[in-house]
Amino acid sequence: MNMIVTKFGGSSLADANQFKKVKEIILSNNNRKIVVPSAPGKRNSKDFKITDLLYLCHGHIESSIPLDDVFNLISNRYRDIVLELNLELDIDYYLNKIKNDIENGASKDYAASRGEYLNGIILANYLDFEFIDAKDVILFNKYGCIDTEATYKALQNILNENTRAVIPGFYGSDSLGNIVTFSRGGSDVTGALVSASINAKLYENWTDVSGFLMADPRIVENPMQIRKITYRELRELSYMGASVLHEESVFPVRNAGIPINIKNTNTPSDPGTLIVKDMEQDFNNPIKGIAGKKDFTVISIEKAMMNSELGFCRKVLSILEQNCISFENMPSGIDSVCVVISDAQLKNKTEILVDEIKRTCNPDSIVVHPNMALIATVGNGMSKNRGVAAKIFNSLSESNINIRMIDQGSSEINILIGIENDHFEKAINSIYKAFV
Ligand code: ASP
Repeated sequence: MNMIVTKFGGSSLADANQFKKVKEIILSNNNRKIVVPSAPGKRNSKDFKITDLLYLCHGHIESSIPLDDVFNLISNRYRDIVLELNLELDIDYYLNKIKNDIENGASKDYAASRGEYLNGIILANYLDFEFIDAKDVILFNKYGCIDTEATYKALQNILNENTRAVIPGFYGSDSLGNIVTFSRGGSDVTGALVSASINAKLYENWTDVSGFLMADPRIVENPMQIRKITYRELRELSYMGASVLHEESVFPVRNAGIPINIKNTNTPSDPGTLIVKDMEQDFNNPIKGIAGKKDFTVISIEKAMMNSELGFCRKVLSILEQNCISFENMPSGIDSVCVVISDAQLKNKTEILVDEIKRTCNPDSIVVHPNMALIATVGNGMSKNRGVAAKIFNSLSESNINIRMIDQGSSEINILIGIENDHFEKAINSIYKAFV
């Protein structure tokens, strides 16, 4: 279908003024027919997100504390929006029902979902679009996972070329009719499911930044914007900490080959970042972005003739599995293998792991390197392009940074390096400057 699905994040719908911007955006393109709103977000850094307040209301009732004060904050936000937009909508009717439901023991997911529900009702009224309750079209199975097939069927039954509708993000229902939410930020997933179900031309995700930047602006001053990126590159960067989108939101549209455009509600003419399935390699700009994370531990294991010992790595990995630890990376040499584990996963189990590996695998040596950071330099232009790795390593050497580990997957879109935590910011800046 020639339709565009537009999802607006919480900051894009935080108050009446933002609603006005959203209306202008939607009316400026006739193909923007399906709108997926989040709940109102923060209007400034000291403000509250409506979803957080709704969770708080539920918490109050669970602890037998009256919720009136918190609920008033919610009511006032919605009343102000309705009043300033001059809508003939009896918002108090909905607010009273929701308050009553929460007071009478409605579930946590139900409480949290009402932020999107109310925003959906208001936005549909303001745009004069149909309101479709997400509980009727976003369907979860009994394990709390999305039932993609049933969801697509329900959406296809209700949507056609002429539909102009608002479908609230973040929630749906299970087969018993109970409200179920995605994890936080889940309106992105709703937008992706709706887009995939109708084979939309484009999934626009409107937020308060103009897409992805080449590096974290808290580390690199004024980094360049990424105009176009593939799903695979994005996955590599997001995995290493660069995030604008909910992780699960990429898969439905990626499978359907629908591009995602991240756009800024406050500067709508900005092209933002376009995420696509494939794109030509850009040999002049081989790097799309640089991202990284701190706090990893590397366990380095050596054993002569390891390469010919059947099952060596399997034994090491089984020990991790038995201790419920997942690893990030496993670079290996002929007689050595390293396991890179995030400290959050490792908790305090280092000694246990080392003892078990010694006992089970009988290595010649096993050394633990704590306080490591990983940095991923990502770009599909690096394959078949000479000198990219050299540039990364030269820049680090010129900045006096010792590289402790190097890994490049055979996909050749990511070079991963391990350095000391203390060198993290300096290393990202050095690599960025080498390419930009
Ligand atoms: N309102 C929900 C949250 O704050 C979902 C979303 O905004 O996507 O997490």
